[in-house]
Amino acid sequence: MRVPLIVGNWKMNATVTEAIRIVHEMLDRLDQVEEGEKVLCPPFVSLIAISNLLKGSSVKLGAQNMHFEPKGAYTGEISALMLTSLCEFVILGHSERRQYFAETDEIVNRKVVAALGNRLKPILCVGEKLDENEAGKTEEIVARQLSRGLSDVKPTPNIVIAYEPIWAIGTGKAANGDQAAATIEFIRNTLSELWNGNAARDSRILYGGSVTSSNIAEFVSQPEIDGALVGGASLKAQEFLSIVEQTAAIKKTASDQPSAGSR
Ligand code: PEP
Repeated sequence: MRVPLIVGNWKMNATVTEAIRIVHEMLDRLDQVEEGEKVLCPPFVSLIAISNLLKGSSVKLGAQNMHFEPKGAYTGEISALMLTSLCEFVILGHSERRQYFAETDEIVNRKVVAALGNRLKPILCVGEKLDENEAGKTEEIVARQLSRGLSDVKPTPNIVIAYEPIWAIGTGKAANGDQAAATIEFIRNTLSELWNGNAARDSRILYGGSVTSSNIAEFVSQPEIDGALVGGASLKAQEFLSIVEQTAAIKKTASDQPSAGSR
């Protein structure tokens, strides 16, 4: 069984003081959610403070990016080696990194390899632009991002894939549950071809793009969708708590039901 996962991507939001306040507002209730993993990805400057707050809790920490080199003359950058004592996860290949910082699939691939080599779990983001979606190219784009992003990466359950249609990120226009599940099923089939059936079955695949407490149920009630990568709504304590709690309840109900084969 794949463990459900909700990840909060705070992007370039919240000062250290604000980040601490947001975590204080949600931590007790978040910690009590037993089903699934909960991950917060604040900006780099808040990682140490939030790591201290999360100690002893079930809430995990992730970074939003990293460089692929371990150290050196890369002013302003942070390496996997620097993150590994603080974080369990790192978001890689987010569409905003691809769009504003010219990250190619090849760069993303080097980051994935470096992250795994430093015991970080990459959350590899893939997804198509609006015009690509309208031209029926979603599967072609996603397959290319996956095969290049995972080039020379051996099958591992430590990589999470996040399917984030770019037209749905920060726009308030989420995909619908069936659309997202269909592409996620395609992603799992692609993983099966790149790796093997078992590895694909064990890989967690999330949906991301304008997820809120009002639409999360539509996504996580799909058996193919293992959770969500949440941007804007993860900065609001009550919203994020509701997203995590609804996911836990829905996935628990699904896992308590006998599967067709065991009936
Ligand atoms: C994201 O940042 O990955 C994201 C999906 O953002 P939002 O939820 O705000 O659309």
